[in-house]
Amino acid sequence: MTERIYDQDSHIMDFTARVLTCVPDGDAFDIVLDRSAFFPGGGGQEADTGTLGGHPVLSVSEKDEIIHFRCPVAFAEGTLVEGQVDRETRLSNMQQHSGEHVLCAVLHNRYGVDNVGFHMGSREMTLDVNGVFEPEELAWAEEEANRVVRDDLPITISYPSAEELETLEYRSKKELTGTVRIVTIEGTDRCACCAPHVMHTGEIGLIKILRSEHYKGGTRVYFLCGLKALSMVNLYQAQVHGIDTLLSAVPEDTLSAVQKVLEQNEALKEQRVQAERRLIQILADQAPLGDAPLVLFEDFSDEIIARTYVNLLTARRTGPVCLCLPRVGDPDAYRYILAIQKGSVRPLCQAMNQTLSGRGGGSDAMAQGTIRATKEAVEAFFQSYRQ
Ligand SMILES: [Zn+2]
Repeated sequence: MTERIYDQDSHIMDFTARVLTCVPDGDAFDIVLDRSAFFPGGGGQEADTGTLGGHPVLSVSEKDEIIHFRCPVAFAEGTLVEGQVDRETRLSNMQQHSGEHVLCAVLHNRYGVDNVGFHMGSREMTLDVNGVFEPEELAWAEEEANRVVRDDLPITISYPSAEELETLEYRSKKELTGTVRIVTIEGTDRCACCAPHVMHTGEIGLIKILRSEHYKGGTRVYFLCGLKALSMVNLYQAQVHGIDTLLSAVPEDTLSAVQKVLEQNEALKEQRVQAERRLIQILADQAPLGDAPLVLFEDFSDEIIARTYVNLLTARRTGPVCLCLPRVGDPDAYRYILAIQKGSVRPLCQAMNQTLSGRGGGSDAMAQGTIRATKEAVEAFFQSYRQ
């Protein structure tokens, strides 16, 4: 069994160990040391990264209580090698993970709920608990968790005997047998867990709940701790500041300022629809009458307006009408509505699709589709079709 240096001191990340075995493993080497500050992953926490003898460790894993290192170079068995865990990553992982213990303990102690899932994502952490909470209950939990941080309580690791475990109360996701590793936050929590944690709650720094959602009958809590929480708060702050600058608002009024802009936007949209309704009536009255196919290029805010316009035109004239509407982000493509009062638009629709790289169809009275062609090409097509 590999001696786990992080068990009693999770801050030792530079260490010397003896190489017990080193065997080729594909294009790399599988190395076993007598001791390791590298955590091989587990309990929701990623394996550590870092170097052995100055060479990058490709991966760390555990099998039958022995920690295996995958390395690009070989080390002679029996020699000593220097190991170095990537400190920043490990410290951050410990902040997130230990923060999860605190948050979960606070919820467990007050509401009796249990942790049923924990995931450390690259952007945020998630904690799944088997209970549903009001926003103010989670707000309380966040504040209480940060009190536990402020109190800077010791976090210790122990391996109780089977008899001690019988009477010990601790949180665990599953029924455990054999040796159980207990992580204790003084006066607050006992939890079975294999990962390295910070040694005092003060090291966790800020515990910030970002949001929550209903999840599988319980709650999924998104949160961050320590420097990652600070980065996220700074990101939020920059967003709010950007919005405030654009809207000449102060942070206390950001939401109402945005609501006001959205209301103004809705009112403008409605005004535009009303103006377009008047406009299509005028345009339809001015459209040339007769049997010749008519092609028009317009942009309306609303599908209903476009269709109403086509209906007004076909009611007035006997020839087919083709309304071309721009496609967002593609200047050389149009959506078309093709219609006629009597007769059929099918032949014209087929000719358009063929000549103008289009697709679409419909009934005798109306067809819809898209074409890929410039305005000039569409006009030229109609010019020649009329002749
Ligand atoms: Zn843990």
